[in-house]
Amino acid sequence: MPSLSEVISCLSDYDPNALPVAQAQRIIRDVVSPVEAVEKVALRSALDRVLAHDIISPINVPQHDNSAMDGYAVRGADLGADAATLQIIATIHAGGSFDGEVGAGECVRIMTGAPMPKGCDTVVPQEFTQAGGEGRVVIPAGVVKTGDNRRLRGEDLEAGKPALSAGKILRPADLGLLASLGIAEVPVRRRLRVAFFSTGDELRSIGEPLDAGCVYDSNRYTLYGMLSRLGCEIVDMGVVKDDPASLEEAFRIACESADAVITSGGVSVGEADYTKQMMAKLGDVTFWTIGMRPGRPMAFGKISSNGRSACLFGLPGNPVAVMVTFYFFARDALLRMMGAQEARLPLMRVASQSAIRKKPGRTEYQRGIVAVGEDGVQRVRITGAQGSGILRSMSEANCIVVLHHDQDRVEAGDMVDVLLFEGLV
Ligand code: AMP
Ligand code: MG
Repeated sequence: MPSLSEVISCLSDYDPNALPVAQAQRIIRDVVSPVEAVEKVALRSALDRVLAHDIISPINVPQHDNSAMDGYAVRGADLGADAATLQIIATIHAGGSFDGEVGAGECVRIMTGAPMPKGCDTVVPQEFTQAGGEGRVVIPAGVVKTGDNRRLRGEDLEAGKPALSAGKILRPADLGLLASLGIAEVPVRRRLRVAFFSTGDELRSIGEPLDAGCVYDSNRYTLYGMLSRLGCEIVDMGVVKDDPASLEEAFRIACESADAVITSGGVSVGEADYTKQMMAKLGDVTFWTIGMRPGRPMAFGKISSNGRSACLFGLPGNPVAVMVTFYFFARDALLRMMGAQEARLPLMRVASQSAIRKKPGRTEYQRGIVAVGEDGVQRVRITGAQGSGILRSMSEANCIVVLHHDQDRVEAGDMVDVLLFEGLV
């Protein structure tokens, strides 16, 4: 993997003081690399982990052609322009089998999941048929076509073909799919370790008295939530005092114990504290003013201590800015470090309920609520005041409205891109 300086030196139009979002994202993606260690875990424990190797299907699922319905297995050739009366020669339940062969004018009563008997290629659902008397069934003309209601051997998963590819984040469907292959243990990448701390002399931790002019440290809790959801192992290092010795010690411990270090606060332009100084001292770190709102200042790079190095995200201090920069920069990078395949979040297009002011030349992330109106149409509205210190705007929102770099003012009814917070569990 190239170093940050190498990646940046290849860019002709790099300006750390006016960096477009897309360029910052690209630089980060080019610099981070996946952890290599792999562990084997029991199938249930593989939920939300990153698959380390391709899984090749050891069997066909299903193993045999079988019936998709309760009904009668027939020979398609027996069904013509008129109703057919067929002799029922056997019954097959799921898990059972029939060794004989079905001849012309014959059929087999069959249940869902039971293997198709030899000679039959079609299943007529029970509800289309009439009793024919003396062990026969009447099939009206035109109720099925040859091949209907039959599931083919290997149509879900074919033996010898890739079932899941490395880098997949294993979701409930994937656990089920692996179970359908009889796989009990799954190779996954080791968990990513992420250390984080807050900087700023005005910060107090929960349990401490809130002195005049101070605020409780909320960023460590949003970071805890976001990192836990991502499946990282977390190292919460608390609030670190704004003095060089404490900061240096915190950065060294973080860097020696984790793959990535996330800090909040202290990276603004003209910031008087020591955070930036210490980041620069310990590594290859660049300080950005990104063309975005909220979240303009951010530090990114690698820091090293005693032969160990870690990827560093110096997020801004404002609580909304922390979340936005995490979701749009750190999340992608951490997933890449976890070994996950391309994990871009899909944006949805929704009509805006009202006009939104926006100037081209920066990306804006407004907090929004998508709701269905009385007319049954989904629209998004903005959650009131959008200050980067107003964490309530995130808490009330169910999405972020992404107003892109070149985008201009939005009129009521215009379609906008939104990133929804909730997905399927
Ligand atoms: P900074 O980026 O350090 O200039 O901080 C910007 C604003 O965010 C200031 O008002 C800080 O008090 C606030 N802030 C910084 N860190 C935190 C934190 N961990 N929790 C809550 N607010 C914070
Ligand atoms: Mg500060």
